[in-house]
Amino acid sequence: MRPPILNPLFASLSALPGIGPKAEKLFARLLARDGEPPRVIDLMFHLPSGFVDRRNQPKLSEVVPDTVVTVAVTVDRHRPPPPHRTRVPYNIETHDDTNTLTITYFNARQDYLQKLFPEGETRYVSGTATLYDGGLQMVHPDRVVDAAGFKKLPLIDPVYPLTEGLHPNQVRKALDLALARVPKLPEWQDQAWLTRNAYPSFADALRSIHRPATPDELRPESTAWSRLAYDEILASQLALALLRAHMRGRAGRGSASEGRLRARITAALPYALTPSQQRATADIVADLAQPQRMLRLLHGDVGSGKTVVALLAAATVIEAGRQAALMAPTEILARQHLSSIAPLAAAAGIRVAILTGRERGRERADILAALAAGDIDLLVGTHALFQEDVAFADLALAVVDEQHRFGVHQRLALARKGDAVDLLVLTATPIPRTLVLTYFGDMDVSELREKPAGRQGVDTRTVPLSRLAEVIDAVARALDEGRRVYWVCPLVAESESVDLAAAEERYRALKQRFGDAVDLVHGRMRGGDKDRVMERFATGATRLLVATTVIEVGVDVPEASVMVIEHAERFGLAQLHQLRGRIGRGAERSTCLLLYRAPLGAAAKSRLAILRETDDGFRIAEEDLRLRGEGDVLGTRQSGMPGFHIARIEVHGKLLAAARDDAALMLARDATLQSPRGSALRDLLYLFARDEAIRLLGAG
Ligand code: ADP
Ligand code: MG
Repeated sequence: MRPPILNPLFASLSALPGIGPKAEKLFARLLARDGEPPRVIDLMFHLPSGFVDRRNQPKLSEVVPDTVVTVAVTVDRHRPPPPHRTRVPYNIETHDDTNTLTITYFNARQDYLQKLFPEGETRYVSGTATLYDGGLQMVHPDRVVDAAGFKKLPLIDPVYPLTEGLHPNQVRKALDLALARVPKLPEWQDQAWLTRNAYPSFADALRSIHRPATPDELRPESTAWSRLAYDEILASQLALALLRAHMRGRAGRGSASEGRLRARITAALPYALTPSQQRATADIVADLAQPQRMLRLLHGDVGSGKTVVALLAAATVIEAGRQAALMAPTEILARQHLSSIAPLAAAAGIRVAILTGRERGRERADILAALAAGDIDLLVGTHALFQEDVAFADLALAVVDEQHRFGVHQRLALARKGDAVDLLVLTATPIPRTLVLTYFGDMDVSELREKPAGRQGVDTRTVPLSRLAEVIDAVARALDEGRRVYWVCPLVAESESVDLAAAEERYRALKQRFGDAVDLVHGRMRGGDKDRVMERFATGATRLLVATTVIEVGVDVPEASVMVIEHAERFGLAQLHQLRGRIGRGAERSTCLLLYRAPLGAAAKSRLAILRETDDGFRIAEEDLRLRGEGDVLGTRQSGMPGFHIARIEVHGKLLAAARDDAALMLARDATLQSPRGSALRDLLYLFARDEAIRLLGAG
């Protein structure tokens, strides 16, 4: 399937001379290949993180100590350490016509150094020069070359992220060999666009970044880096556009409704819909009435009230005599949805059921039978919903909650459960505008911008851990007033059991003081136990809930109005915002106490300050992006932007819109990528691992 012209790039690194099994393992780790053999292309996309400037080439007498210099010296003599005195360094005396230089190695092999520094010959050494004992010294030069090597010595020498055990020289050598293999590929970018941006070709861009002539070429803003970033972004936009065309292309069915069921639901609500909830509902109802498939994202901050909009969407297709499914990422959330939806559904005469990993045997069989018979209108559940044997009578709408935990793959799987299923994705993750396009470029977007009326907001304070006793007293007062409190313990240590032990210890300590009012919930608990704990807290049977971050997503107990977060400095900003979103949902004014271990670093300080200042998830997301660069915006622990190696959103984000238009225009002209540019774009999809989308071209 893969075009043969790409083969050199997809060759395994171990096919390069000099890369044996040991080095291959190290490269696999470096390039995060997850058990797969590392390939030439992976190394090509491993971009430098900095550079060493070797342009400074003074005479020895002009060397400024503690700077990087490249000097030409004549080798005088070797002074190896005495036998068995391995702590004594190996010195090599050298000179030029102005001064002398001692080159020093620790734990070096003599035969190796003899070869590297033949006595009486000239060598070019590059590294940091220092003053030692009044003489000029260079310890472990970075580079040692002869006259021929000097001609090829890169004056701007890129520095790469490494992994333990891998030497920079190994990476450099592998890159030399790999670069030589980059084929000249047909251009997939629009010529006018290339010219306007002065972008080099793909191969030249790689060479420019790995073998830069000036430091400027190594900046993400350079034309070379931008070209590669644009390639990557275009590949992802094209894949999303293909998915969209594929879903849209297969005719959908309109689900027309007068809105009878919706009216009954809104009548049963104890509140009025916000204007943006009304707008989003109207968008969705209009989409559902169309004979084309709906692909819509409902994007709203925590607590903005997405669930009821999803229910109104479901009611629309149910009124048309069809079925809906609502998929949540966790068991807790699925049950939560069920319990908040059940009374409203009852008021509207909608039949609801739940299906998760916990429904088994007889119970599960009954649910599946009722589903297939059309006796269930709305099925709520986890990914258990798209298991093989789950068959709907007539699934019209799939709602996927908190979508960034799923992928395009799961979207397709659920959508295949019915005849041209409409898709609604809910996400609570505050994503900056630029990222929405990256991740959901294939979807229409409805936004819930305002919080429901009557919310009191959250008073957020930062408190050092040393004042823990006062915090516990404050919790005591809150409990006395009948309030409900979350106490969040972080999951951060290498080992989950260590973290869990910390949470359990906090639980025991609080239980000593507050007795049966205290409960504990964590991720290691069995589903049923978890539900019972949440249920007791929701009903008020317990009022202080010690939790690990399992409560992060979606849990809704409006009566909870206090949250204590231990070691807040260890959480990402987005994650803290998500956590805090669990309170401030009722009519009562809420309080969030961020406990931190002093002293706080500058970055942690600004993070916590932003939380004190605002609870606007969009602003927090933008600030997060600014503070951290691209990492962790989605709260996906430490990892960068999933799926992107080269593009940096803060630098290349502005290319997204162009790439989206470019992809759309391309597919409008050449939907199956048959033209010369289309076929080059297929290459691009392979290069950036978006080739799954190519299969959609074949399938109807
Ligand atoms: P999220 O968008 O985080 O999923 P939910 O759908 O869980 O938010 O809603 C959060 C809380 O707000 C729930 O208790 C819900 O009943 C309530 N709610 C939703 N819409 C409104 C509204 N228009 N007015 C008042 N409360 C609302
Ligand atoms: Mg929700």
